[in-house]
Amino acid sequence: MRKKIVAGNWKMNTTLAEGIALAKEVSSFVTEANLNSDKGVVIAPPFIHLTEILKNVNTDKICVAAQNCAADENGAFTGEVSASMLQNIGVKAVILGHSERRMYYNETSLTLLKKVQLVLKYQMKPIFCIGELLSEREKNIHFDVIKQQLHETVFTLTADDYSKIIIAYEPVWAIGTGVTASPEQAQEMHAYIRSLIAEKFGATAADNTTLLYGGSCKASNAKELFDNKDVDGGLIGGASLKMSEFSAIISAM
Ligand code: PEP
Repeated sequence: MRKKIVAGNWKMNTTLAEGIALAKEVSSFVTEANLNSDKGVVIAPPFIHLTEILKNVNTDKICVAAQNCAADENGAFTGEVSASMLQNIGVKAVILGHSERRMYYNETSLTLLKKVQLVLKYQMKPIFCIGELLSEREKNIHFDVIKQQLHETVFTLTADDYSKIIIAYEPVWAIGTGVTASPEQAQEMHAYIRSLIAEKFGATAADNTTLLYGGSCKASNAKELFDNKDVDGGLIGGASLKMSEFSAIISAM
């Protein structure tokens, strides 16, 4: 069954004390909200805070994710954090392919596929981000871009591995800009993505895939985005750092 999810990507924000305080607030809110089993909440703090945050949240109710991992299993990769290290401390999911990683750290489809495979190998859930640039939407090639991003990465997986993936559609022009895709734009692209999944892995796989929207989603627009039939929740950046915003977004799911 397809799950609805709200995931907070904290990026490179929070001190340890701030992170623990925010994580505790999210944990209490979600525990009290007693969400149905078809709804989930994820938080993705910075690597260095993961261990402490895992000690301070109700891991039966919220999933703690990492924002990235290494493309190699272990060895001489100074500064990297491996998928096995994340699994070992209790991390359950990893955001991969975020446009900031693609843009600032030159992460290619090939690198991202290696990361996805390692995250799956260590029994965690990849939250795999795809999205087009503003220039690509303006040239009207946004559907082609999304198709290519999928075909070069998660569409090369086996059907079984693919079934463990969450996809986040994040138009790059909407991330951190305050400009949100309209509900119609989000639904149009999500329906297209679901049709591609159906073509590749079949109707059941398409129906079971959780497709998140990301890009300036906030309390004031979450409901109109999530009400679309192919939008199964959101990947939230800025608004996940403020409890009043994040809790309202969770409630809109
Ligand atoms: C993100 O970084 O994944 C994101 C969606 O950011 P924001 O909500 O701040 O646009």
